[in-house]
Amino acid sequence: MTQSFYESVLQRIDATAERVKLNQGVHNILRQPERELTVAIPVVMDDGDIKVFTGYRVQHSSVRGPCKGGIRYHPDTNLDEVRALATLMTLKCAVANVPYGGAKGGVRCDPSKLSKTELQRLTKRYTAMILPIIGPRHDIPAPDVNTNAETMGWVMDAVSMYEGQTVLDIVTGKPIDLGGSVGRREATGRGVMLNTMEILKRLKKNPKDTKIAIQGFGNVGSVAAELLEKQGCRIVAVSDVSGGLYSPDGIDVKKLIDFVYGSQKRRLLQNYDGYEKINNEELLELDVDVLIPAALENQITSDNVDKIKAEIIVEGANGPVTKNADDVLAEKGITIVPDILANSGGVIVSYFEWVQSIQSFFWDIDEVNKNLKKILIKSFNEVWEIKEKEKVTMRDAAFMLSIRKIAKAIELRGIFP
Ligand code: GLU
Repeated sequence: MTQSFYESVLQRIDATAERVKLNQGVHNILRQPERELTVAIPVVMDDGDIKVFTGYRVQHSSVRGPCKGGIRYHPDTNLDEVRALATLMTLKCAVANVPYGGAKGGVRCDPSKLSKTELQRLTKRYTAMILPIIGPRHDIPAPDVNTNAETMGWVMDAVSMYEGQTVLDIVTGKPIDLGGSVGRREATGRGVMLNTMEILKRLKKNPKDTKIAIQGFGNVGSVAAELLEKQGCRIVAVSDVSGGLYSPDGIDVKKLIDFVYGSQKRRLLQNYDGYEKINNEELLELDVDVLIPAALENQITSDNVDKIKAEIIVEGANGPVTKNADDVLAEKGITIVPDILANSGGVIVSYFEWVQSIQSFFWDIDEVNKNLKKILIKSFNEVWEIKEKEKVTMRDAAFMLSIRKIAKAIELRGIFP
């Protein structure tokens, strides 16, 4: 059976604890989220029926600052998944050195089967039910899988109605017209592009000779594809929930983005004519230079790891490779730029948005992108340095870097009371 996502995360923490000789008490702190909330969310559906959805908000750590992390809408979301994602957020914020702890939220639902008005009511009721534990200085939500700027606008509205005033800094990834930051929507994909360019440079590879396959054509995959194509890389395959498209000569990303996002409702890639159709498993197993899993966790597991041919994996998604599969890939010499570094562009620009919201003073796109690049390259270099010095993988190095920082914060604060 495939190792669970949370199991993978805990095993990586355990391995790192040993490596950095972590104090046992601090290790125990990291193995458990600080606070977990499960809520039952009644929603009046458009036909008048009442449906009850289950939602979660898990706060893993607030030792380095307010908790931070997205909200995911997915039929398979469960408490264990949200725990794993919250834990990764703590580590991600520490790698990027933004002043946050980690959290995550999720609602078990299939958003493709809900109307916009149902989604709005679901979002506002979920927000009301997690309100006791979120706040601009406590826990700041953001988008994740199947949520977007519109969803965050609804979160902001719900909180603002309770407060009796507009509260901008309660959430990031808001619409730009509601105080969101320019560049936030593209930030995770841009960060994936920057990390990919950086790893190509380190491994002395020319972007022009680089073939890339991307799993996922959402907010992360589609933006990464477009920006990497602009850098001269050849995007040979992309996929979404419906399956993938393959073209050894390269895919015209712009055209595909227009097809998928050009009308009211998002179109599925399987309905696009023009390229060879493949499924998601085939995409992962393509003979490419770089594979970018940018969809969900547990995509590369003990079941398919032996078939992976890419030389480099850049994790756009959170947790796309299980710990067991990781060990096999490391053995094979495949380089992985780990999620907590590779996809940190989103939370970094979330931090910029939060700062802008607090000050009600807004930056331009050059300012956002310049500062994003500065932080990302610094984190990349720090991870690379540890990897070289300690002769470990980039994932091990990123975990070591973040866990040392978190341990330091725990030590400096002391255990209350
Ligand atoms: N959901 C994104 C992530 O997994 C962004 C979180 C945020 O901006 O707070 O990193």
